[in-house]
Amino acid sequence: MKDFLLNIDRSYLTLAYLLAAVLFIFGLKGLCRPKTAVRGNLLNALGMLIAVLATVPLMYREGHGPTADPNISPLSTIGLVVAAVLIGSVIGAFCALKIRMTAMPQMVALLNGFGGGASVLVAGAEQLANGKAADFDVAVAIFASGLIGAVTFWGSLVAFAKLEEYKAFKKPFFYPGLKTINALLGLAAVALLIYGITHPGETGAYWGLVALASVLGLTLVNPIGGADMPVVIALLNSYSGLAAASTGFVLGNSVLIIAGALVGASGVILTQIMCKAMNRSMTNVLFGTMGPSAGSASADDVYAGKVKATTADEVAMMLDGARRVVVVPGYGMAVAQAQHAVSELAQYLESKGVEVDFAIHPVAGRMPGHMNVLLAEAEVPYDKLKEMDEVNPTFSQTDVAIVIGANDVVNPVARTDPHSPIAGMPILDVDKARTVVVVKRSLSPGFAGIPNPLFAADNTLMYFSDGKKAILDLLAALKEQ
Ligand code: NDP
Repeated sequence: MKDFLLNIDRSYLTLAYLLAAVLFIFGLKGLCRPKTAVRGNLLNALGMLIAVLATVPLMYREGHGPTADPNISPLSTIGLVVAAVLIGSVIGAFCALKIRMTAMPQMVALLNGFGGGASVLVAGAEQLANGKAADFDVAVAIFASGLIGAVTFWGSLVAFAKLEEYKAFKKPFFYPGLKTINALLGLAAVALLIYGITHPGETGAYWGLVALASVLGLTLVNPIGGADMPVVIALLNSYSGLAAASTGFVLGNSVLIIAGALVGASGVILTQIMCKAMNRSMTNVLFGTMGPSAGSASADDVYAGKVKATTADEVAMMLDGARRVVVVPGYGMAVAQAQHAVSELAQYLESKGVEVDFAIHPVAGRMPGHMNVLLAEAEVPYDKLKEMDEVNPTFSQTDVAIVIGANDVVNPVARTDPHSPIAGMPILDVDKARTVVVVKRSLSPGFAGIPNPLFAADNTLMYFSDGKKAILDLLAALKEQ
């Protein structure tokens, strides 16, 4: 068995890694559009399988891990790899099937964390195995993996705990001097990193750095508000990629370097897209707070005497004469799990000759692509999901805009009040539709914590109800007409 593995031509293995890298790149490209996302995911999974298969003979050639020990038989080494793949696959399949769509950010946080943790352990094993003999560049990669991997692991666990609303992590947590303590921890970590690189045999320095970076991961992420976690998770995702790429340099494994670099770069791009769509800077997300500013109007000023409530029957009558309807989903649709009812409503209206589109804001909901995922689950065709730039010019020709559980992403204050926390955030121009029906339970604010003048506008009707119940009642009223 060992001879067979050693005899596999090196060029085949290089080709397998190249194929895996190409699959990762095309897979990632597929993930850019809902229509190609499933195929993209499958290509990535295939790339990963090829990479794992090619790694076993490479381990033998290069004498990594148990393959270096002549007392461990090749069969038990391969048995270990197969067992690891099986255990990982079962856990992965279980999570994919069981985790609620609304809990995806938590799951991504955990996956990032495991990636960071794995980098720490692999780099640590290499440090133990050949610490003294490590070249300068390998030593840099080992210590960088330890630093970034440990920050990612602990930071991701805190992000998970916050999103799961564990009691101890529920509120952003501050204590005086936290920023100074973090700066000192950061400086100490850099000092230990430099010491470790210049003294490659010092295994204690490596684990000391991992311990410091672990504390830093906790103290950096803990003060950030739970609702900012999706942005932080995108950033930690990028860190996990950097840690993996670094570990790729430790092992001299090209596919790990490429995959890590892809994750690192895409994570940073996603973080930037999210910050831009929220009109916030990265520094503001990481070190600032969000909430109404001193100059913001109060809810009483905005709503008093101006809000008009409506009923399912009234909305049904209005829809009867409509030619174009745009549905605008937001976080509340996810909370109410109303996506199937919304999809049914769209199909019913289309069967009556009404043109129906869905307007998707890039940060509607609480994670990137949140609305796309929910609506795809409810089998809304991808070509019905219109991005903000495409749909905004069409609102003036829209008879009814049905806003379901969205608030900040349709708040016109973003255009008019420079002091508002969402000032400058691009929004969906629903206020330009002939009639706007807003489905939500009350006049409570959304994530940004500010009132929304759209709810008091002349052309807006408020349909106060839970999202799913409201749409099911509306469907019943439409069918009764
Ligand atoms: P918002 O958070 O602005 O508003 C959601 C609204 O949904 C609330 O006003 C709430 O009103 C309503 N709601 C809650 N539960 C229900 C229910 N069961 N039925 C009906 N309505 C319900 O959501 P948006 O999607 O408009 O905006 C997203 C916000 O999150 C933005 O500020 C964005 O910047 C931020 N964000 C987005 C991220 C992303 O990646 N997508 C990441 C981080 C932050 P009521 O209680 O009255 O029902």
